[in-house]
Amino acid sequence: MYQTLTIPDLSAMETFGHQLVQSLQKIYNSDHACVICLNGNLGAGKTTLTQIIARHLGVTETVQSPTFVIKKTYTTIHPVFTHLVHIDAYRLDDPQTNKQIFAFEQDFSRIGNMVIIEWSEMIADSIPDSALIITINHENQGRSIQIPSEIILQ
Ligand code: ADP
Ligand code: MG
Repeated sequence: MYQTLTIPDLSAMETFGHQLVQSLQKIYNSDHACVICLNGNLGAGKTTLTQIIARHLGVTETVQSPTFVIKKTYTTIHPVFTHLVHIDAYRLDDPQTNKQIFAFEQDFSRIGNMVIIEWSEMIADSIPDSALIITINHENQGRSIQIPSEIILQ
């Protein structure tokens, strides 16, 4: 079950990112990582939302799209989500090899990780069942976002 939110501009996206971090902390099952598949077309705002989330986790490093490095891990100052792992699987072409090289499964099992994956369909068979799917749709100037109903924004 999903709910759809309207995000008219960047400042609404900023508010959403802040609320999302707080809500994820509340529903976090700390047996494994918090894994988010962030879907949406090119330019939808996936990297922008990841940057907002990073800021709210207290990442001080600049977060850029990991398109060429595939994966980047940041340390946070957040009490629950101690690391942010940002994956952009767009350029992966051989899922089997890449699984070994990038050791995604370790990221998914590590407690305290928040893992955000752009283009998760490229590594579909590695994604844990517990992953949350968030989809950003580009609509004229604004965006709409689909989030699982278990995420209750406050
Ligand atoms: P993606 O990672 O999905 O390809 P990016 O985040 O790199 O997309 O790019 C989205 C672009 O759209 C950025 O230049 C951002 O400033 C702009 N933008 C405008 N409005 C919004 C919004 N409401 N949410 C997110 N990005 C927005
Ligand atoms: Mg991106």
